[in-house]
Amino acid sequence: MATNRTFTMIKPDAVRANNIGPILSMMTEAGFRVVAMKYTHLNADTAGDFYAVHKERPFYGELVEFMSSGPIVAAILEKDNAVESFRTLIGATNPAEAAEGTIRKAFATSIGENAVHGSDSDENAAIEGDFFFSRLERF
Ligand code: ATP
Ligand code: MG
Repeated sequence: MATNRTFTMIKPDAVRANNIGPILSMMTEAGFRVVAMKYTHLNADTAGDFYAVHKERPFYGELVEFMSSGPIVAAILEKDNAVESFRTLIGATNPAEAAEGTIRKAFATSIGENAVHGSDSDENAAIEGDFFFSRLERF
């Protein structure tokens, strides 16, 4: 059964473009409640760990460099059917293929610099939330 939590990051490109506010607005207007949130900066080691599933992919080096290039906002969000519903809200990985009204359509500039992360399964949502947040940081 689908759980009601997902994990997201507002990526360095969107933070640099000063789009934290409008992106959080789209999330909360879509009915997601903030369970945990922090403004932080990944380094090459922590970004590499977070995206370790992509280690063998040709874009891994570029992805780690980009994700450690500036601060990010990390958050756990809650809504019914959170993972699937949030993937719909963010849109396709490549903004050229992202549907109208999605966060990536509005704010992503390329397949690499695509503004936001969203967990792809309940299992990964739990792992990714645990990567950033302790039990005392969830409300
Ligand atoms: P995310 O996991 O960040 O939510 P996603 O699930 O839509 O994105 P993944 O296949 O998990 O896409 O890829 C992880 C990230 O790696 C993408 O969001 C993007 O930043 C980067 N990426 C994916 N494919 C490419 C590519 N072909 N070239 C460059 N970067 C890529
Ligand atoms: Mg993914």
